[in-house]
Amino acid sequence: MLQPGDMIGVLGGGQLGRMLAQAAARLGLDVHIFTPEADSPASRVAARTTVASFDDRPALGRFARTCAAVTLEFENVPLSAVAAITDQGVAVRPGPQALAASQDRATEKRFLESIGVDPAPWREIDHPDDIAPALRDLGGRGVLKARRSGYDGKGQIGLSIADLDPARAWSSVGEQPSVLEAFIAFDCELSVILARSASGEVCGYDSPRNLHAGGVLRSTSVPGGFPSEVAARALDLTRRLADALDYVGVLTLEFFLTPDGRLLANEFAPRVHNSGHWTLEACAVSQFEQHIRAVAGWPLGSPDRHSNAEMVNLLGDEVYDWRRRMQDGWSVHIYGKRAASPGRKMGHATRLSPRT
Ligand code: AMP
Repeated sequence: MLQPGDMIGVLGGGQLGRMLAQAAARLGLDVHIFTPEADSPASRVAARTTVASFDDRPALGRFARTCAAVTLEFENVPLSAVAAITDQGVAVRPGPQALAASQDRATEKRFLESIGVDPAPWREIDHPDDIAPALRDLGGRGVLKARRSGYDGKGQIGLSIADLDPARAWSSVGEQPSVLEAFIAFDCELSVILARSASGEVCGYDSPRNLHAGGVLRSTSVPGGFPSEVAARALDLTRRLADALDYVGVLTLEFFLTPDGRLLANEFAPRVHNSGHWTLEACAVSQFEQHIRAVAGWPLGSPDRHSNAEMVNLLGDEVYDWRRRMQDGWSVHIYGKRAASPGRKMGHATRLSPRT
């Protein structure tokens, strides 16, 4: 168990690392960020930063020796980097099993299936010639996704058998091993943000409803407006995943809710999540604090929500509108990224209303 004054290492330097560092600071814990990026959003609020590549074993070793525990804000950290840290006798939470399962979409889906959590029907694609038969098999519409390194809709493309060009589809996912998922005409998307402590204690936040555009999260609202039975089922499936991974920290599982009431798992993230940012204002203990508590081996806090909340992402130039947002009663978070390219997550804003 960590003590106030100890250092937690965070692999990755983005906005999630920044908000983790802010939560840790409130608890008297220092954060050491490890990131390949100079001047990262997280490093500007952290006690210490190492700027080095995830392949740099000596730098990882030096970093680990300053930390009482290490966590991550980015799931594509190479497993070799995690090993370089655990070799120093420092725990990485969540551990390599959760990372390995989430880094490859095919492994992830097989793992979910093995514990009774259904993903959308899918096929493995290793060659452009695999695409047409698989797409026919899946009902003629699908989404082709690179197995590795995709995020926010990158490395994926929607396909329809009527106008399929397999070579183009293959090139748009970077000509690499992929999965083809059936297109799901869902009623809505929801996520479960759940924390699990080192002793196996589990607590989940109320499930938000998520709206995506172009593969990127636009907004999240809670309560999600779906039947409470659906939320309970989603929570139960996520708990199953956390237990199966012997997970420590905050874990997020995204679902599609189909018109006939089925919950299909889209993907999971072994970290705090964009669809949980509203917990900063609407809950006594946010997802960031909850994660830090779990990593530190401390008791989890109540995930109860005292308000309804709506969260919107500020993408690209939208961040420059912060003043109007503030005047309209939103809590504005700006990540401190130096350049606002189109679609880039530059900040978010949350507005509370009385709890229903
Ligand atoms: P992902 O990066 O896999 O989370 O996908 C980003 C977003 O694209 C999802 O949140 C959905 O809105 C949409 N999407 C992804 N896969 C599918 C699918 N199989 N059917 C329908 N929509 C999808």
